[in-house]
Amino acid sequence: MRKTSSAAAARAPRPRAERVFSGRGGQAILFTAMALVILLFAALWMADVHRIVFVKDRSQNAGDAAALAGARWQATSLNLIGELNLMHAVALAAGAANAVDVITNTQLRLCFTGPMTGVAAAQQGAKLNGMYVNEDFTDFVREHADDVRRQYGASVGGTTALPEPWPGAWDEYADMLDAIADDGVAAGVDNATFYTDPAGAHLLLDMAFYDAVAGRDWCWFYRSQPSLLEDYVDYHGWPGIPPAPTTGFTTCELLGLWLTPQTRRFGNVLASGQVEAEAADAGMALPSPVDPAVQDAVQVWFFYSMGRWGTWNALDDPFPVVGDVKEQYDYVGADSVMRVEAGITRFTSDGGTEADDTILWTGAAKPFGHLEMDGRAVRPNETHLVLPAFREVRLIPVDGSTASSAGSFNLAWRRHCTEHLSRYLDNGPIPNASCRYCRNLFTWEQPAFRQSGVAWLSTNSWQCTIAPSGGGGPGGGTRRAH
Ligand SMILES: [Zn+2]
Repeated sequence: MRKTSSAAAARAPRPRAERVFSGRGGQAILFTAMALVILLFAALWMADVHRIVFVKDRSQNAGDAAALAGARWQATSLNLIGELNLMHAVALAAGAANAVDVITNTQLRLCFTGPMTGVAAAQQGAKLNGMYVNEDFTDFVREHADDVRRQYGASVGGTTALPEPWPGAWDEYADMLDAIADDGVAAGVDNATFYTDPAGAHLLLDMAFYDAVAGRDWCWFYRSQPSLLEDYVDYHGWPGIPPAPTTGFTTCELLGLWLTPQTRRFGNVLASGQVEAEAADAGMALPSPVDPAVQDAVQVWFFYSMGRWGTWNALDDPFPVVGDVKEQYDYVGADSVMRVEAGITRFTSDGGTEADDTILWTGAAKPFGHLEMDGRAVRPNETHLVLPAFREVRLIPVDGSTASSAGSFNLAWRRHCTEHLSRYLDNGPIPNASCRYCRNLFTWEQPAFRQSGVAWLSTNSWQCTIAPSGGGGPGGGTRRAH
């Protein structure tokens, strides 16, 4: 009975309403499936966003903590070297000539051991804030330790290739680098100045040039290198890469304090009266007056390298803070810039490059303090002689730091500058290089590429005077994820 009825129903044409319902059912399944796919994608995307925000937050905390730890040791080292200047004065006035040698030697070592302790402390700061050891950074520090031993310390005519601040300094410095690599490097010092790096400016050492080529930013050429697109012939025409500096080996490559030992007459060191005042404050009274014969002693004292401890206003770009900077804060000099990189494995991908999956944070910090002189607060470097003056460390905008625009622990860029450029200058560009900067140079070398820039500028250069295009220029962003 039921069977018959069912068969009859099956044979009978379906009522219109049922057909419509069935069609809607099919669509509903389709929509549900689509919605599920979208929801799933959205969920994964949200998970990615959450993960990126989390990693970014963690990177920022780690980078800032590392920068502050480095700056704290810079402040401590500067104060110690300042106190040793005072002890030097007291010992000299008391006729303790042997003590003076020990003091000067200790100051020289502090110029390295202080900053390197800061580098080690920065690693702790980064790791305690959840940053993992960066294998590339670690390998680089270890390679550099080898370079210091083999190149800086190479024996040339009975002395080392680079003059040592004290006997055996390069071996000791290499050991410190190795100790830091052994613990694993999580934060790279982005304002390092390596002794063998070129000392002067060169367009091929300016990342903005590569960015302009990669982005066909013809306006950059119009503003920065107006005749280069037309005048350039080929790679034979580049000037040579500037040589490495030949002096300044008393400033540690990492977190350098930028101090200079200088030979001075004791009487001149005492001339400002600040040494007596600071020594009295520290409970180390000098005899008054100091014996004139002792005042004629000519010895080594530690001074600020004034070329590096100028005012913020003396920078090409003014200090990136709105309003006036108080005089006692208005100086550049020693600062601590730390780069941390964290990789992210994403569920969703936009087919972007590997770099898109790396979160980069660069934190910058600086020791601050002042001297009291005639009842007012003045810069720590007011007397040029190093005196204990630093009281605090603060984060500063990375654009106001001493780090180059590329950053010294941007390892792909470093390898390009130190290894690839000489090959390019000798043999020209190579196609399909794995290094993106080398690929930019290959593009640059094509006459058609430069010609398209010349053609564009011949009718569009007015656009370049209206507003800068893209990042890096005035008002543009920075490449440091700020
Ligand atoms: Zn390269």
